[in-house]
Amino acid sequence: MEKDCIFCKIINGEIPSDFLYKNDTLVVFKDINPQAPVHLLIVPLKHIRSINDLMQEDKEIVSEMIMTAGEMAKKENIAESGYRLFFNVEKGGGQEVFHLHLHLVGGWK
Ligand code: AMP
Repeated sequence: MEKDCIFCKIINGEIPSDFLYKNDTLVVFKDINPQAPVHLLIVPLKHIRSINDLMQEDKEIVSEMIMTAGEMAKKENIAESGYRLFFNVEKGGGQEVFHLHLHLVGGWK
């Protein structure tokens, strides 16, 4: 848990948020500023700054994030139409919140 991390605050309930899904590894919630009709964030409970900071021991977390993204796409009925998954990495890659998260976007007509 990082003191000034907005996603840690969402995870520990300091900032109220509706989780679409939660398990022992991650939470899923809607992006506050959606870039698509469906825009979800898949966020590990563990505070990891970015892809650059992943350790060998985090392999299962990343795998769980991707598997969950696939499940959430099905739940949101965008699996067949298609969607994008992406990580922004550090400032040059467009990352604004420095707590690892996977974007799931889709639902365009
Ligand atoms: P990134 O640019 O990859 O770091 O993405 C951070 C994302 O977090 C952006 O798409 C923001 O709209 C989103 N975001 C920031 N604050 C919140 C919040 N309180 N609740 C939900 N999404 C947020």
